[in-house]
Amino acid sequence: MIGLVAVTAAGKQAAATLANRWSETKPYLGQRPGDALRQAFAECDQVVCFLAVGATVRLIAPLLRGRDTTPGLVCVDEQRRYAVPVLGGHSGAANELADRVADELGGTAVITTATDARNLPGLDTLGWATEGAVASVTRAILDGEPVRLSSDAIWPLPAFPANVGATGSHRIVITDRQVSLDGRTVVLRPPALQVGLGASRGVSSAEILALIDSAVNAAGLSPLAIAQLCTVDVKAAEPGIVEAARLRSWPVLTYPAERLAEIDVPHPSDLVRRKIGTPSVAEAAALAGGGELVVAKQKSRRATVAVARVRPRGRLALVGLGPGARDLLTPRAVTELRRCSVVVGLDQYVDQIRDLLRPGTRVDTYSLGEERQRARAAVRLAEDGHAVALVGSGDTGVYAMAAPALEEAGQNIDVVPVPGVTAALSAAALLGAPLGHDHAAVSLSDLHTPWEVIERRVRAAAEGDFVITFYNPRSRNRDWQLSKALGIVAGHRPPQTPVGVVRAAERPDQTIMMTTLADLDVSTVDMVTTVVVGSSQTRIVNGRMVTPRGYRWES
Ligand code: SAH
Repeated sequence: MIGLVAVTAAGKQAAATLANRWSETKPYLGQRPGDALRQAFAECDQVVCFLAVGATVRLIAPLLRGRDTTPGLVCVDEQRRYAVPVLGGHSGAANELADRVADELGGTAVITTATDARNLPGLDTLGWATEGAVASVTRAILDGEPVRLSSDAIWPLPAFPANVGATGSHRIVITDRQVSLDGRTVVLRPPALQVGLGASRGVSSAEILALIDSAVNAAGLSPLAIAQLCTVDVKAAEPGIVEAARLRSWPVLTYPAERLAEIDVPHPSDLVRRKIGTPSVAEAAALAGGGELVVAKQKSRRATVAVARVRPRGRLALVGLGPGARDLLTPRAVTELRRCSVVVGLDQYVDQIRDLLRPGTRVDTYSLGEERQRARAAVRLAEDGHAVALVGSGDTGVYAMAAPALEEAGQNIDVVPVPGVTAALSAAALLGAPLGHDHAAVSLSDLHTPWEVIERRVRAAAEGDFVITFYNPRSRNRDWQLSKALGIVAGHRPPQTPVGVVRAAERPDQTIMMTTLADLDVSTVDMVTTVVVGSSQTRIVNGRMVTPRGYRWES
């Protein structure tokens, strides 16, 4: 719940705007501001306060508790110009809340947490539980002191700067095991543990939680590394399970009994098989997502638990960078570039976005023509557990790396698609609206496709009266294909059919040319050019290439 605290008329109006647009808000308006803040702090996870930062700080001073129990707090000024995260920038997600508030109210978020200002990932921004000296280790990272990173496994973390490595007196430990804390250690708890749970009807949440905690602790593990509870379908609505999950914010994953019955477990039970249809619930459910059993079945009166540890799933983001202009790079692409620790791509594309990468990001560049190796390398890195971004111009799914990568990729990684603005779309937009009706794209590169196939497709598109976008139209070694293709089209369309030629779209050396099928000089076309050939309906309207939407052209 987001509390909205306001006292002035303008503040109340701004609060009402947010309350109208967001469902998860609660207003605190009719009281003295100190009382309103106290109540909001007690009841909400986040608070937006329409008061000066100074006034707010005085009022909240007596309310401050530990980092994890204090709500994220954002202050907004009377003119709605600035949204300032005052407390819990990371831990209370106040930085993101400030961004959302600024978006809604038309202002700017003023982010002051040091890691964000320095382009470093915050230790508490991963969505993972943290323990220990977050502030002191963060300061060591910012100050460039050596910080030792140790991890039980490779997790898909964002990049850390170069001073985070094999040595240092400050430590980041990534583990599901118990660690003794000192003032210089942060423990990040990865979501590694799968708790399999069986229960008899009427089990209490307290019994379940006590059993889970004691089983996990006895094995030297941390309950903070529990990713989810897993059980059998028929127990999905068991109140004690639902409540236990709610209390700890664990998701519950359920499996059909037949699925659990297929899983090999160390301690099957005939009794359970007769009652539920699977010889194991707890151990089988813990193991159903893969991984190894780290706590064998343990029982209390009405509950049974077992715990498995899963291997990290790496991430492969397929990031289309668009045609080149920075403002045609999508915000999601930027997020993924800053989320990854390894970037794989052609050097010229990586150069386009190098400034966005976090310090310490590993960059594996390749030169043209090594597509298979590049795709395979990216997939292998993700399979090892890394967060990888495979980048390419336009969209990576269009004549690019996504297809070879997905041919290689198994189900053991998460694939994160980030569509990009393609060459066809950026060229078309610069020409006008040539793709206003049915269109086809054809690559004229016969390096991977026999020319007869290409020719057949060009002929089919020409016969079908599709607008045709030619990719890879012409290079030094492939100099006759474009003329040949245009000759085929000319057999089906008048010589004055409009043709748009866009070179280096959305790059500093962009050129745009409009001509006709009869007049196109193919020597002006190279490998950074996209050629758009109109259909029989395409017209030039006031210097812009337009293909009408209707099936009938009304003149
Ligand atoms: N994945 C890319 C296409 C790669 S194929 C995309 O979605 O856009 C390479 C071809 O794309 C080039 O030969 C050229 O025809 C076209 N192309 C790529 N970038 C371009 C640009 N900025 N301007 C014009 N054409 C471009």
